[in-house]
Amino acid sequence: MTEVLHTDIKYLQGVGPKKADILNKEIEIFTVEDLLYYFPYRYVDRSRIYFIHEIDGNMPYIQLKGKITAFETFGEGRNKRLVGHFTDGTGFIDLVWFQGAKFITDKYKTHSPYIIFGKPTQFGDRFNIAHPEIDPFITEERRQTGLMPFYNTTEKMKKHYLNSKAIQKIMLSAFQSVMNHLSETLPASVIRDNRLMGLKDALRNIHFPETPALLREAQHRLKFEELFYIQLNILRYTAERKSKLKGFVFNKVGEYLNTFYAKNLPFELTNAQKRVIKEIRRDMDTGEQMNRLLQGDVGSGKTLVALMLMLIAIDNGFQAALMAPTEILATQHFASISEMIRGLGLNVELLTGSTKKKDRERIHTGLLTGDVNILIGTHALIEDTVQFSNLGLVIIDEQHRFGVAQRAKLWTKNSNPPHMLVMTATPIPRTLAMTVYGDLDVSVIDELPPGRKPIETLHVYDKKRQGLYQSIRKQLSEGRQVYIVYPLIEESEKLDLKNLEEGFEHIQEVFPEYTVCKVHGKMKPKEKDAEMQRFVNNEAQIMVATTVIEVGVNVPNASVMVIESAQRFGLSQLHQLRGRVGRGADQSFCILVTPYELSADTRKRINIMVESTDGFEIAEADLKFRGPGDLEGTQQSGIPFNLKIANIVKDSETLQFARSIAQKLLDEDPQLEKPEHLILKKQLRKLSGNRYNWGMIS
Ligand code: ADP
Ligand code: MG
Repeated sequence: MTEVLHTDIKYLQGVGPKKADILNKEIEIFTVEDLLYYFPYRYVDRSRIYFIHEIDGNMPYIQLKGKITAFETFGEGRNKRLVGHFTDGTGFIDLVWFQGAKFITDKYKTHSPYIIFGKPTQFGDRFNIAHPEIDPFITEERRQTGLMPFYNTTEKMKKHYLNSKAIQKIMLSAFQSVMNHLSETLPASVIRDNRLMGLKDALRNIHFPETPALLREAQHRLKFEELFYIQLNILRYTAERKSKLKGFVFNKVGEYLNTFYAKNLPFELTNAQKRVIKEIRRDMDTGEQMNRLLQGDVGSGKTLVALMLMLIAIDNGFQAALMAPTEILATQHFASISEMIRGLGLNVELLTGSTKKKDRERIHTGLLTGDVNILIGTHALIEDTVQFSNLGLVIIDEQHRFGVAQRAKLWTKNSNPPHMLVMTATPIPRTLAMTVYGDLDVSVIDELPPGRKPIETLHVYDKKRQGLYQSIRKQLSEGRQVYIVYPLIEESEKLDLKNLEEGFEHIQEVFPEYTVCKVHGKMKPKEKDAEMQRFVNNEAQIMVATTVIEVGVNVPNASVMVIESAQRFGLSQLHQLRGRVGRGADQSFCILVTPYELSADTRKRINIMVESTDGFEIAEADLKFRGPGDLEGTQQSGIPFNLKIANIVKDSETLQFARSIAQKLLDEDPQLEKPEHLILKKQLRKLSGNRYNWGMIS
């Protein structure tokens, strides 16, 4: 079977080398099999023909039957367009083409019956359909009816006549050539027990649905399969790792933790902090290596949890390390942790890119002799020259800034890998965590320390800027500090920088009596840190910045976060930014500045921010709005696969179902050695040979 499925796409009828090249480059389709797994993104019911008088402003793709009464050309140069006036006797609609006028007027005749297909758009009280699909009207019986699939195509594909309809045609010839060579990719028992549709039927119905019910079954089968193999792989990999690796056992409750708890702890732990410490502690006592994700909203007190865990490691005779994504954060951690453990007789060191050579050498030696108990730093910590005498626990703050490979490198800092805790303020919805971090255990701090005043979030139109400045001035006059953030979109970095520079100058003019500092991503880390430091020390009262301040900076005196062009930020990002204020005892404010004109979706997003301060709620909403592909941080955190048909948010039930089936299979047959499970091994191997990089998920 494989032979036929692996046939180069160029040999398919109707493709050829030129089109094959486009398919290769544009949508990564190389073989007949790749093509079969290129699924439609939408289906349109072609059995229904609409009347023009039924059209309203919210129509999906529809079909109309009627005649073109006349063609007319409007506009000049780039605005030139061809319009065909189309009627079905119940009204008129304009068909519009911006290119190919000659081709159209040659091909289609006025006053002949056509079926046209497209999405109507409203302009004033008229409707038009741009670049409609036009077919001659044949008799009712021969017309294509039923569900018509739609395939994603790119501009370039369309230029080479590879539109959705062309893909459909190629698909048909592909399907006919391999139909008799398709063999099942799931074990028979899984198909039978879960009443899944067979592969051949599923592929046929996904491309050429016979009925809506069969289409749904086909979709379910293919989504299940996709999620099932991801879960099977994650679960298998986790089991293997657990059985291979031994973890250090931290079973002592020692002096350091007890003394800290009795004497140094500046406040009561929240219940959530207590609970996660318990969970993590239990993990570090099992003899297995811990890999855990600690989620907690900004300000929930993750640092304190980290510190207490490090004390447990030290009590058990180990060293601990805390790694932060930026120098300023590492420095802040160093300062606050040094302060908190004062009097315990512990040795904490800070290692960053700007640590002097002499200090560096001293630290290296201290780590090797075991004199240094806690090392705090940036990714300078990963360098090979940094060797420990007995590293037992590594904590990584704000994980999404670190690549997977960097994390893996930390494993090698001891002959046996240390326990690993990844802390993040980016709330990852459960379904996504299960998939992306399927082999990490998750702990959640779902409670803020008492006495915090919820941040008040306001939406302000940019025309009303004057009022905004008055409010800012009031806060400044009370001694507070203010952040003003500008968006940064990579494609137009120059423009963004210009925005920022202009904003900076403008703000200096508006607030001449205060000092303004400025931070952006193009600055050298040294400069950036120096500017940040000016704000931390209150030498500057206003910080104008791009999103570089997003991560973890703690300036309790800052009480106002102004976000310019807030419509250009994702929800999670807005939430992260907002978390920079509200860290002190005073009422804090987050002000989202946007133009008056906003799309309905954007307005919804802004409203969610105004109404909710719950990071998880916001993350779920974000995922719904943007889809998981865009979820901030997932790229960097190494989501290793593209889903072809399943959607992590919408198909979360199928995901959990698939996971439970995968788990059951592994419980029965951990090595997948039973003959009927050979297919599983084969599929896993095949997937790992693809663009997937399964092993690196943790
Ligand atoms: P994050 O989870 O965002 O890293 P931090 O660890 O920086 O949060 O904590 C935010 C602030 O809350 C710090 O000033 C910290 O001292 C304080 N804090 C942490 N735990 C508690 C607690 N249980 N009660 C009161 N304040 C706390
Ligand atoms: Mg933090």
